[in-house]
Amino acid sequence: MVNLLRRCTKCGQYTLEKEKCPKCGAPVRIPHPPKLSVNDRFRPYRRRLREMVANEKDHD
Ligand SMILES: [Zn+2]
Repeated sequence: MVNLLRRCTKCGQYTLEKEKCPKCGAPVRIPHPPKLSVNDRFRPYRRRLREMVANEKDHD
């Protein structure tokens, strides 16, 4: 439910609209930090894991 909430970039109105503010028509965005930042935090770790798997394959 929380993820459905958007916030207008212009007037700050919270809305369930996905593309534009029903009040002023400005684009809306998710008011929380995007999930992407979480992935970024784990990216180095995941890359190392992938390298380990790659090395494992080279061994064979
Ligand atoms: Zn607005």
